[in-house]
Amino acid sequence: MIIAIDGPAGAGKSTIARSLAKRLGFIYLDTGAIYRALTLKALRKGIDMHDEDRLIQMCRETDLAIDNKEDGSIRVFLDGEDVSELIRSPRITKYVSVLARISGVRAEMLKLQRNIGSSSNSVIDGRDIGTVVFPNADRKFYLDAEFCERVRRRFNELKSAGGTISLEEVEADLRNRDRIDSTRKCAPLRKADDAVYIDTTNMSIEEVLESVLNKIGTINNSRISEAEKIKP
Ligand code: C5P
Repeated sequence: MIIAIDGPAGAGKSTIARSLAKRLGFIYLDTGAIYRALTLKALRKGIDMHDEDRLIQMCRETDLAIDNKEDGSIRVFLDGEDVSELIRSPRITKYVSVLARISGVRAEMLKLQRNIGSSSNSVIDGRDIGTVVFPNADRKFYLDAEFCERVRRRFNELKSAGGTISLEEVEADLRNRDRIDSTRKCAPLRKADDAVYIDTTNMSIEEVLESVLNKIGTINNSRISEAEKIKP
């Protein structure tokens, strides 16, 4: 069973996807982490973020793996190196959307996402999961929130992780990524027609989780119990 969760940054996708996966015993696939890891590699190699051919070639030569931990967290491995923390840096965040808009890069990553996602019952979050990566997902959600609230959440998250970024910088980053992600030609950020839209602006994490679980509860029970059997 595949549960797709799309939406812009700061809408609560990863928090909800992680909790949901833990609750259901599904694997959690954070597809943003894939694009972030590729961005880290490109920056390390000094590849121009507009040099599409080199970036696509780099993707072909990259080994990416995502490991789900017991506590619900994930570890991301780039060519065997654990880069889980490095990929959250402001420098990666600044460039990731530039790399992610390249259609050849996305094509290379499609197979990887489909392989991981369909290997087990999964909750997958991203921008194009319900529209492109898994258009036949069993359940689709599109989480959204007002811009100011998304900025506030992202700022608090970065601050509590020890970051020194200013509110203005977070605002500029979200504005920029929203624009690039939703206007790119290939797989732009968009709600799938059959996705359930949830505006999380005035909701707590528990309320969003509850709402998502209620919607999932309508899935045929036998499939849920089948899914439960694969619990790690
Ligand atoms: O989810 P996160 O904010 O970590 O994603 C970082 C960036 O990766 C997004 O802003 C977007 O440019 C890209 N991304 C994407 N498609 C996905 C997931 C992420 O283009 N499915």
